[in-house]
Amino acid sequence: MNNKAFPSAGAGVNTRLAHIGHDPHAYHGFVNPPVVHASTVLFPDCRTMEKRDQKYTYGTRGTPTTDALCEALDELEGSAGTVLVPSGLAAISVPFLAFLSAGDHALIVDSVYAPCRQFCNTMLRRLGVDIEYYDPEIGAGIEGLIKSNTKLVHTEAPGSNTMEMQDIRAIADAAHRHGCVVTMDNTWATPLYFRPLDFGVDVSIHATTKYPSGHSDIVMGSVSANAKYWPQLHDAAITMGICGAPDDAYQILRGLRSMGVRLEHHQRSALDIARWLESRDDVARVLHPALPSFSGHEIWKRDFKGASGVFSFILKVEDERQFKAKAHAFLDTLSLFGLGYSWGGYESLAVPVSLSDRTIRKAPPDGPVIRLQIGLEDVADLRKDLEAGFASAAAM
Ligand SMILES: *Cc1c(COP(=O)(O)O)cnc(C)c1O
Repeated sequence: MNNKAFPSAGAGVNTRLAHIGHDPHAYHGFVNPPVVHASTVLFPDCRTMEKRDQKYTYGTRGTPTTDALCEALDELEGSAGTVLVPSGLAAISVPFLAFLSAGDHALIVDSVYAPCRQFCNTMLRRLGVDIEYYDPEIGAGIEGLIKSNTKLVHTEAPGSNTMEMQDIRAIADAAHRHGCVVTMDNTWATPLYFRPLDFGVDVSIHATTKYPSGHSDIVMGSVSANAKYWPQLHDAAITMGICGAPDDAYQILRGLRSMGVRLEHHQRSALDIARWLESRDDVARVLHPALPSFSGHEIWKRDFKGASGVFSFILKVEDERQFKAKAHAFLDTLSLFGLGYSWGGYESLAVPVSLSDRTIRKAPPDGPVIRLQIGLEDVADLRKDLEAGFASAAAM
């Protein structure tokens, strides 16, 4: 092993995940970066302090630990810079506050992560931003919604819970013709399965809480921008005093090392279960972009390199008055699948999906929507658990 930084260009994704973000020989050969706990950073003299003429100046402005993670994420996203924030939701609110002002108009995809809608409808509207939701499958038709004061177009693909795919390239091209910044919540695919900046997106958003963490024990977000928008994003994060904590950054970088192999397993198991669900009479539809039956499948196949472990299905229930009771009977019977928010960890989860906040893509009429996160357990055991759930739903 030599002393040079790892030359990652051209290397396979798992090779890169194993070596990006930290050069061991920059820190006594230790394989992992140090966890630097910091507020104060000392300067050697007043002149250096006055000019801020050294690499690190204060704890909120980055440490060797947070830099290691940011460099790794820049490598994966192809971005000019990354800021770390305390949650995935903050990874949405920080860029929105960085780029939007009173009097601006923002276009938000209707299948957006629900707390993003809450932030837009309450705080952004209070600050004088005009918020409008658009159909996820609008594609180039987004141009018809852009006004002279439209500043930001926010995308998320697949959509939260209902998995609608978006033609990101077409949307970004239309938005750029009118000078808008394009943001994308890329949490589901991770940069391993989709690289937003390669498709014209300016700012890629992640709940690193999910797959990068991988163990349901960290809450953190990242925002990665291209060269055009990086200075404004970075300034906003510094101005608001938003930063990521060193222990969390360390754990996320640790999680990245195994994310490729974990995702392969999540992908394979989730597809296996999705196909099995699709073959069942008690399932109305399976909402998974990698299934040819799904409406966004062609876009997924064209643009994405893989599928992660989260998807939804619609339990077949004839009578709308029974939607909730049947969904609860199904979910309350599961024992391997936990009932809880978030995803991306090693354990399987199942939740009832509420779509009551949607304004365009409303809840489907053919049954209750249930979202699954397929963890790292053995598929045969997961199927057995789901079988028991279907039996309970049928029995009531
Ligand atoms: C979970 C999630 C978030 C928010 O992440 P937190 O760390 O839980 O705040 C944002 N976007 C998407 C798509 C998510 O699934």
